[in-house]
Formats: sequence, structure tokens, C-alpha cells
Amino acid sequence: MRPSLSSSLLALFAVALVLAPAIVRAGANERRAKPSDGNLWGVGRFRGGGLIRGPCAQRPCIALTFDDGPEHTTTPVVLDELDRHGVRATFFVVGRRFDGDGPIAERNRDTLRETWRRGHLIGNHTYTHALMDVLDDRRLEREVEGNSEAIERVIGTRTFLFRAPFGALHHPRAVRAVYSRGLTPVFWAIDTRDWASHSPEEVVANFRAGLDASPRGGVVLFHDTLERTARALPMVFAEIAARNAARRARGQQPYEFVGLDELWQPVGSGRRR
Ligand SMILES: [Zn+2]
Repeated sequence: MRPSLSSSLLALFAVALVLAPAIVRAGANERRAKPSDGNLWGVGRFRGGGLIRGPCAQRPCIALTFDDGPEHTTTPVVLDELDRHGVRATFFVVGRRFDGDGPIAERNRDTLRETWRRGHLIGNHTYTHALMDVLDDRRLEREVEGNSEAIERVIGTRTFLFRAPFGALHHPRAVRAVYSRGLTPVFWAIDTRDWASHSPEEVVANFRAGLDASPRGGVVLFHDTLERTARALPMVFAEIAARNAARRARGQQPYEFVGLDELWQPVGSGRRR
């Protein structure tokens, strides 16, 4: 006997009522289990052009981001260190490093694929690391859309996270090039200035100073193309652990590693949370 449409709908509705709390619970558990958002949640949720400014709003948090890669010599060192601490990060990649022919592009492609496979998020950092504010629409198309397509060819997913090279995104044409494609621009709260540093110790010192200046934490900017940064990371984790121990001893909330979704906010309105 075939059930009527209305009784089928009723049955579906009942099933949904029973399942809904379980689904919500499973989501919450998965969130807790993951120290930061990995690609299991996809990058699609950043679609629609929000804004990620950098500082944490509600509680002390740290979201690690790495720019300018993939670089097959240094990125894997960073990936191993992140794995050791169970932390997922976001990598803003440059298309010309991994797109096209040649053994280096191929190795960097493998590195990008591996970064994604290990659960990190991938964001767009333009195709040639261009200064967006001086480009015309045709070049912007190549830099932004060209890189999105190159990323998608490697990881099989379109990204909606974008970081402007040099953090420069001011010209209305450049801003439009990002938002018209549904991308969410990501800035930072703590610049480790690793690109201008000379040693891993200097990178850590800059991180320390950055955290002193922004004690709530937030998005931290690194470059996974630099050997000194790869070598500084264990000390960065040690620094965070030491600060967390001190914070707990004082009865303060420790820093929690979070993903960028914690810092997402809609454009043109106040903070989301
Ligand atoms: Zn960069």
C-alpha cells in the first residue's frame, strides 16, 4: 500500500524532530574535538563576503594563518609541527608557486594538496602576490579569479577566504573584486613580522610583543615560506602553553586555538558575537 503524500510528510517531519537535537549535539561535539576548524567543515561557509578583522571578541583565542606558500621545503615542517599540537590553521596561497609546469610547481602542488588533506583551510592570496590597489579590473580578475581557479584545480574545492598581499585592500575597485566574488577578506591582529626577522628567536620575540599588545589574541600572521618561521613554531607553541599555565594559575581563561569562523563577522554591522 502506498502511503499518502500527507502521511509521508508527517512521518518525515516526525523523523526530523527526533533527529534535530542529535544533529546539533554531534556538531557541538565535533567542534570541541577539533582545536580549530579544518576542511571537514569546508570553506563554503565563508561565502558571501563577511569580514575577518583579527582580534578575538569574546574570549582569548588564537587563529594561526600562514601566507605566501605553498613552499615544498618549509611548509611540510610547519604542517608536522601543527600536527604535533593538533592545531589546524589557514594557509593563504599564491597561484604562481604551484600552478603550471616544472618540477617545483609540481612539488608545491603536492604540498598544497597535503596541506588540505591534513585538514587545514586554504585561502586565496592572489596569483602573483600583487598589490591589489593599483590594478585594473582585468588584472584583478586574473589575480583573484585566476588564483581561485588554480586552487580549485588542486584541492577540488572553491575557497571563499581571501587575504590581500601586504594587507592592502583600499581601492574601491580592489574591494569590489573581492566582494563581488563572494570572498571574505581576512586581516590579522598580530603580525609576527617574520618576513623582516633574521632568526627564529626574533620571530618568537615579535609574537610575544604582539600578544602583549593584543592580550585577547586573534588572527596571527606568519609566512610558511620562511625557514626561520618553521623553526620558530615549536617556541611559539611553548610560549602559548606557558602563558596559558600562568593564566590558569591566575584564574584567567587560557587561549584557545580557534578557526577563522570564530572571527567571522558580517560586513556593515557590528560584531556577530
Ligand atoms: Zn603575502
